[in-house]
Amino acid sequence: MNPFVAGYRKFRKEVFPKHAARYQALAAQQNPKTLFITCADSRVMPSMITQTQPGELFQCRVVGSLIPAHGNPPGGVTSAIEYAVMVLNVENIVVCGHSDCGAMRAFLHPEKLEGLKAVASWIEHADSAIAVAKEQYQHLEGDEFLAALTKENIISQLQHLRTHPCVATRLRKGTLRIFGWYYDIGEGTVDQYDPILESFRSE
Ligand code: ZN
Repeated sequence: MNPFVAGYRKFRKEVFPKHAARYQALAAQQNPKTLFITCADSRVMPSMITQTQPGELFQCRVVGSLIPAHGNPPGGVTSAIEYAVMVLNVENIVVCGHSDCGAMRAFLHPEKLEGLKAVASWIEHADSAIAVAKEQYQHLEGDEFLAALTKENIISQLQHLRTHPCVATRLRKGTLRIFGWYYDIGEGTVDQYDPILESFRSE
């Protein structure tokens, strides 16, 4: 049997009735204020971390929280950005990386990418982050380097995000804010990037 049927039945019986009015109001429209871009990792649950309800976050889940810069062939991530910014008119974009990210770890163990052509090609969108991390954090090792690289990657993906014309236009107008988050799975903490201090601080 499909292992999720029991969960679905519990949802129908216990969860849906409690929030039926909300779900029905959402049935024909959504008006999220935030695009939340994060990794596909099963341990990252945006709605749980942010304590948001259905209809509040437009989510884009993608390996490594990577955002192709403008000029790359359009794809799923750029479509999500374009739709969120131009159609849904979101006011915030959060780019959220996380601890123990497999995509970031791949840089420490490139041998594990053997045979994973799609992943190897995709994570090239983190090339500038890895270049900076190798230069800036050569004194760090193991998990410390991984955390530093992941944070550098968040900064790099924020830069990629700004290259998209629809994002650049809204940022210039002051009608869009972008945030970089680092979520620590084991600690349950979020560090947010402070562009003025050029560093992450705990929230
Ligand atoms: Zn990840």
